[in-house]
Amino acid sequence: MDAFNPIVAAHKHSSNHREELLKSDYCGCFYCLEIYSPQEIKDWVDDDKCALCAKCGIDSVIGSASNYPITKEFLKEMKRYWFDRTIPLSEVKKHFGDL
Ligand SMILES: [Zn+2]
Repeated sequence: MDAFNPIVAAHKHSSNHREELLKSDYCGCFYCLEIYSPQEIKDWVDDDKCALCAKCGIDSVIGSASNYPITKEFLKEMKRYWFDRTIPLSEVKKHFGDL
């Protein structure tokens, strides 16, 4: 197994995260890469514990209270890893290895 990787670890924060999201000042979606207020989220699944993105409807939202960087760059790397599968983890680590 590989060492700690934020791109992989942050994914856990995209489900079962209602409380964390509602504590967050802002949240980001790593599918459509929008960053916005969690107040905008209207749809929840999995017993209302998992947010669907207010912009694209995909369950790939992470709140700032997760302590991961909710930036376009970070979300983009997550998208590339989780949706596009275009980069190996070693590439991700070059960008975010010090997190
Ligand atoms: Zn989205």
